[in-house]
Amino acid sequence: MRILVCGGAGYIGSHACTVLAGRGHDLLVADNFANSSPRVLERLRRIIGAPVFFQQADLRVRADLDALFDGPRFDAVVHFAALKAVGDSCRRPLDYFDNNIAGTIHLLQAMQAAGVKRLVFSSSATVYGDPDSVPVREDAALRTTNPYGRTKLVMEQLIGDLCESDPSFHAANLRYFNPVGAHPSGLIGEDPGGVPDNLMPYVSQVAVGRRERLQVFGGDWPTVDGTGVRDYLHVMDLARAHADAIDYLAREDRSLTVNLGTGRGVSVLELVRAFAKASGREIPYEIVGRRAGDVAQVYADPSLAQRLLGWRAELDVEAMCRDAWRWQSMNPDGYGSAAVDEAAAGEVASQHEWDALAAG
Ligand code: NAD
Ligand code: UDP
Repeated sequence: MRILVCGGAGYIGSHACTVLAGRGHDLLVADNFANSSPRVLERLRRIIGAPVFFQQADLRVRADLDALFDGPRFDAVVHFAALKAVGDSCRRPLDYFDNNIAGTIHLLQAMQAAGVKRLVFSSSATVYGDPDSVPVREDAALRTTNPYGRTKLVMEQLIGDLCESDPSFHAANLRYFNPVGAHPSGLIGEDPGGVPDNLMPYVSQVAVGRRERLQVFGGDWPTVDGTGVRDYLHVMDLARAHADAIDYLAREDRSLTVNLGTGRGVSVLELVRAFAKASGREIPYEIVGRRAGDVAQVYADPSLAQRLLGWRAELDVEAMCRDAWRWQSMNPDGYGSAAVDEAAAGEVASQHEWDALAAG
């Protein structure tokens, strides 16, 4: 299939590209690099073994969308493009509503105009907020607690309303739990700008010596060891779910909403121990007060994804830590670590070449 990957230069999108390309799909990556690096495209070319077709585009800009859709029809769109930092969304909610919601409306309008009827959408466990019970099923109450989460909920609703209005439009709404880890090559991975908000990139940066110690937010939660519990999921398992969702949409001609997680809760201290073992590095930490807005434990019931998509997470916490460490140690400064690129200055194919390929 010909697939448009919006936000494909980002953390999860780039990993999904490796799996989608591996299944034989032709990809056009669109991104505005709001939170990613052009270097990703060269790294992807090395992993995939072929040029990555790329078009710089901002989903809020109609002309950019027109240029993207001005060619042979896409069979599906995978939509990763969003701003995603919870704390940042509290400081500048309008930017989040504009980027995430307005961008999605424009994308859906462009899909509608071009007659593209399949969408895979990146939603999040954040739509459940602080769930009444765990494991969380898809029919749990939706009551997100921050502007970022509200953008995800509104985007789910927009997409749901479009599916209602057009019985031939189908969407796979994927609610990710906590994606971590990296491609086993160590060539692509998570590269947060500034101080990481999330646990795994923070721990990785402590291990590599970029940060002194981890602050553990709360040692008095009602959990196995007093620290917060989450459902960490290897990004390559998550990537595979997108290819499975595309297959589902093509096969079943219907929409779905599924949780993507392992179904297993892991505490902060359990993850720290696993990372120390995988990296052979000590991870100094101190227990401090709880982070505002945090919840004790969230983990998925992923059985619906298994039933509908035939998908289940296969990689364990050890593999997540091993691959996160390989990425971090090969690229201590993320994509700013030029050494890996110097050996292979690659070229990225243009939209023009994509059109030629798609037409042929
Ligand atoms: P990311 O920031 O690494 O990737 C998002 C990509 O979208 C970036 O490359 C960014 O430059 C691009 N982008 C943003 N706004 C754009 C716009 N207007 N036009 C074009 N490109 C734009 O984030 P990620 O971790 O890969 O997350 C991907 C998706 O998954 C997001 O929608 C996010 O909300 C969702 N999600 C992420 C997590 C997580 O923990 N990483 C968890 C749940 C859901
Ligand atoms: N956490 C922590 N120190 C950090 C970052 C996160 O103790 O520097 C904890 C956080 O309180 C939560 C868990 O690690 O219990 C996962 O946090 P993350 O932000 O990665 O995911 P989310 O809370 O959004 O699910």
